[in-house]
Amino acid sequence: VMVTALDQAEDRVNGLEAGADDFLTKPVNDLALVTRVKSLVRLKMLTDELRLRAATGQEINAQDMLSGVARTDTPKARAMVVDDRPSSYERIEKFLSAEHSVTLVSDPREALLKAADEDFDVCMISMSLVDFDPLRLCSQLKSLEKARILPLIVISELEQEEKVMRALEMGVNDYIRRPLDRNELLARVRTQVKRKRYNMELRKSVEQTLEMAVSDSLTGLHNRRYLDNHLPEMVEKAVGRNSPLSLIMCDIDHFKAVNDTFGHDIGDEVICEFTKRLCKNIRGIDLACRYGGEEFVVVMPDTDTALAEIVAERIRTEVAHHPFVVAEGREQLSVTVSMGIASMTDAGDTPGKLIKRADVALYNAKRGGRNTVTVEAA
Ligand code: GH3
Ligand code: MG
Ligand code: MG
Repeated sequence: VMVTALDQAEDRVNGLEAGADDFLTKPVNDLALVTRVKSLVRLKMLTDELRLRAATGQEINAQDMLSGVARTDTPKARAMVVDDRPSSYERIEKFLSAEHSVTLVSDPREALLKAADEDFDVCMISMSLVDFDPLRLCSQLKSLEKARILPLIVISELEQEEKVMRALEMGVNDYIRRPLDRNELLARVRTQVKRKRYNMELRKSVEQTLEMAVSDSLTGLHNRRYLDNHLPEMVEKAVGRNSPLSLIMCDIDHFKAVNDTFGHDIGDEVICEFTKRLCKNIRGIDLACRYGGEEFVVVMPDTDTALAEIVAERIRTEVAHHPFVVAEGREQLSVTVSMGIASMTDAGDTPGKLIKRADVALYNAKRGGRNTVTVEAA
């Protein structure tokens, strides 16, 4: 952060080119100092978190994201300027439009609609609006779902320190004081835009990480962890509504032989093709998971044993009656699958017992010669 005097316009330009992130103009007061430091520390924390994710390989795309964001070092942002004084907003527009695309809004009520409607990267609000309380506008913007991470910068007069403090307390990200300095304005906008973009990337990364934690990368199905977390809820719902629920456990027959004869990659292809056939025969509300290597579980709400048997039989024939074409069409394999069914009985039934019964049923299907569907009564 450069500390400069008001008349050192030249120095500011040089400072910026040398890599300064922000400016403080002498005399430096506490509010300005604390705000600038806070704002840059937050940005640094976001950058560090993305770097850490990249370094630990926690997030496959973190490195890409980081360089992607860094590449747009002076990102062209969509800025909304809320100001009702032409002499003021024309000046701001002149400064900003060199680097960003600017939308001028002179009616604060319209600002709210626009923020809810469009994607802005930063919003600047004059603290001297004639017939609208700018603090009220800030708090309304902050409570908009869409604008929650929209950075807000207020533009204040020299004597509005109290008001600025209140704005910062309610979550406004930064302020800039009149008379506006072009470089200072651009530097602050740049910091806030970066912060927003890093935030969005991190949020995306968290979503991806969560997604990876509950899904199986080979088949795209949910994994066992997901099943373990969701089965209790599904059982509870069935009990609450007094509706049936069935679970099918599937295991591909003699799968080890596929691997041993054709190799692991072909084995993987078989698993994927099986997944396709499985999914073709179940409903959207059924939960299909890859339970283990070549084992799958399908949980079917509103489904009694008789219906579950029909579904399982459909999957079984779909697998057994059509050979699996693998290795880019060079091999055709006969594949069969064994299935065990268990259905919820009474309110005392538990997810654990249900899985256990399906497992016993599957074991019986294997013992009975494979390529069959077996039901285990409670
Ligand atoms: P059964 O009819 O009794 O089920 O015989 P099986 O050979 O299918 O049973 P087993 O459970 O002994 O073998 C499963 C094999 O699946 C062993 C393991 O190497 C293989 N496997 C597990 N996960 C994967 C995977 O992701 N890809 C491939 N290609 N093979 C896998
Ligand atoms: Mg198995
Ligand atoms: Mg098997």
